[in-house]
Amino acid sequence: MKKLPTWHIHIQGLVQGVGFRPYVYQLARRAGLCGWVNNTDDGVHVEFNADPAAATRFYEAVVAGAPALARITAHRLAAAAAAGYDDFRILASESGGNPVLLVSPDLAVCAACLEEVHDPRNRRYGYAFTTCTQCGPRYSIIRQLPYDRENTTMAPFVMCPACTAEYHDPLNRRHFSQTNSCPRCPVRMTLFDNREQLIEADQASIITRICALWTAGKIVALKGIGGYLLTCDAANPAAIQELRRRKHRPRKPLALLFPSVARLQREATVGEAELRELRSVAASIVLVALLAPAQSRLALPEIAPRLSTIGVMLPYTPLFELLLQAFNEPIVATSANASSAPIVYQDADAAAWRELSALADYVLTHNREILVPQDDSVVSFSVHARQRIVLRRARGLAPLLDSRPAFAPQTTVLATGALLKSSFTLLHHANTYVSQSLGNTDNYDAQQVYAASLRHLLALFQARPAVVLTDQHPDYFTTHLGQQLAREFGSQLVRIQHHEAHFAAVLGEHDLLAAAEPILGVVWDGTGLGSDGQMWGGEFFVYQHRQFSRGQHFSYFDLFLGDKMAIEPRLAAFSLGHQLDDAAALLRPKFSAAEWRNYGRISGKKSIQTSSVGRLFDAVASLLGLLDKASFEGEAAMLLEEQALSYFKDSSTIPLSWLEQQAPAAFSSQSLMAAVVTRIAAGTEKAAIAAWFHVRLVVAIRQAAAIHQCHTVCCGGGVFQNGLLVDLAVKILGERHRLYFNQSLPPNDENISFGQLQWFARTATAAAP
Ligand SMILES: [Zn+2]
Ligand SMILES: [Zn+2]
Repeated sequence: MKKLPTWHIHIQGLVQGVGFRPYVYQLARRAGLCGWVNNTDDGVHVEFNADPAAATRFYEAVVAGAPALARITAHRLAAAAAAGYDDFRILASESGGNPVLLVSPDLAVCAACLEEVHDPRNRRYGYAFTTCTQCGPRYSIIRQLPYDRENTTMAPFVMCPACTAEYHDPLNRRHFSQTNSCPRCPVRMTLFDNREQLIEADQASIITRICALWTAGKIVALKGIGGYLLTCDAANPAAIQELRRRKHRPRKPLALLFPSVARLQREATVGEAELRELRSVAASIVLVALLAPAQSRLALPEIAPRLSTIGVMLPYTPLFELLLQAFNEPIVATSANASSAPIVYQDADAAAWRELSALADYVLTHNREILVPQDDSVVSFSVHARQRIVLRRARGLAPLLDSRPAFAPQTTVLATGALLKSSFTLLHHANTYVSQSLGNTDNYDAQQVYAASLRHLLALFQARPAVVLTDQHPDYFTTHLGQQLAREFGSQLVRIQHHEAHFAAVLGEHDLLAAAEPILGVVWDGTGLGSDGQMWGGEFFVYQHRQFSRGQHFSYFDLFLGDKMAIEPRLAAFSLGHQLDDAAALLRPKFSAAEWRNYGRISGKKSIQTSSVGRLFDAVASLLGLLDKASFEGEAAMLLEEQALSYFKDSSTIPLSWLEQQAPAAFSSQSLMAAVVTRIAAGTEKAAIAAWFHVRLVVAIRQAAAIHQCHTVCCGGGVFQNGLLVDLAVKILGERHRLYFNQSLPPNDENISFGQLQWFARTATAAAP
């Protein structure tokens, strides 16, 4: 018999923890090939004997039919040194100490595992930690790479003979399933009260006990994938009010966990896109429109005060599935934390216990450790254009990025992001990782979690950044940490303007950094430090020849009382309106005589000015009497969007007079405010004024696009979390312009770290030959 040549395939990307080796094994067996497959820290390697035609066929088949969860970033077939094989094997993993891999996000429980959990004849019947190669925790439990059991927090669990047999059977769904366990070698739950007294240890009884506690109006902390969730009966207003009191969260909407899609459809309109998102492996919280709030038995005024949408999710772990099937009604499920503190995730820790016991009446814990804390991700869709808007990117989505920019330097680059909605981005071996949402780094605990998550990811890849990128703001925690890391690693340090980073994030997500035509960037947010020392936030940029230039901006107005202005919409209204005669009458009642005098004095000093569109939303909301003091960031904008949406519900056409061009006043914050006040004085309905304001902002975009003769327009910044604004932009500008929004990343400051990287990459790439 003629000896067959030997071949080698190398596949890179997200190829571990997704059943890749068993897949290759089965394919090779079916093709009658002999050789081996293994995992190393630079991906999957396959070596085999075949004639050239069969080798190519096999190679193409491996790449084309890869498991659904895999993401291949590079692949190669090459001739190898001659070796003779007489069967096909899966070899043990090898580690060379320099990981080049994509780390998988945590995956929602799969349909096959759910079926087993519900099947009384199956050995995993009722087992709350059932997983397989297609589902279960990943990023949250990985201590080291490659992704093997001993490198995860599953290491202490010794598999029983049945699980071991599955693990070693190449034809089993759980072949090399690193999270494998069953009721005979279990991850164990324990239910405590908030004084750390053991309440229940029997696994099946725990489920019924918790349902009884919910029925009795108790708040139960449940250990999930990324940390603890606080839960209570969604139909019990008193329990929800108590939960809000303990969390110091008076009005910000709470998410609900539903037992099923059918139950959800009795409460809300669930479109195709929403359903796909709910059922995806990320299983995010999705915003949906309420159907008939008046007829609901849920405590909606307590869940989402004054709003017509709610955030919902479906059970994404077998534990949640078992609990929700038993309870059969939705529960409130929100991150266990107080106000802006990070999610609680370490139960062995005394401080965490103190925090949990102050938040919950009962605590359900389990002994599988969480290494990387993550909140649930939140996604919404605009009503008309159906634009996907990620509001928070965490569990299920991080740290992987769907949109890989086509070019990236080989240098290791770390970008540290901004302040309030923080994240970091790491570029390493041309792979881009964007961290989970790490919250408000003004908060000390959030700073600790941010730093720990960053160190963890650097350690996973043994990455030493050659370049560190930070915001230009000198006082952000992330700026300080970036400086410290740059010193530690001897890296180059580059500071990047906040709004240029936002713009670069949209350009990068859509691979537009090398575009030849001029592109208009519309960047509207709360505030970020501008290059002229003022606080920007209503910006138009032009991007061409890989350079950013600032074009128009909304005219400056006084920024006073620092951060207080961001949480008191009445102050933005005061800043813009107290010198307008008609506005003063509206504003006076919102302030005491002393406040009025003081604010009048300090606001005239023009020490710091802002162009923030976020503050314009605040001012209009306050003038319309919607909100004077916010309880969370963005509350005023949400209420104004609600008003405007109610206008377009009744009349879907935009009055032509609203669409008239109005240069140069289009960019005047003061004229915009004066026009709002005139409308209020004329007795125009709130909803119509709110709608007009939204349209007017889009008209300003059209104006800027005309001035700079830009056909392509990128919109970013936290203001574009507003789905109505996105829809109006698409409706008014969509025919003549190509519009881009953030796609995989949130439009808010969570994208700053990625934007900083793109900003840097554009010049690094331009400089390359
Ligand atoms: Zn599964
Ligand atoms: Zn077992």
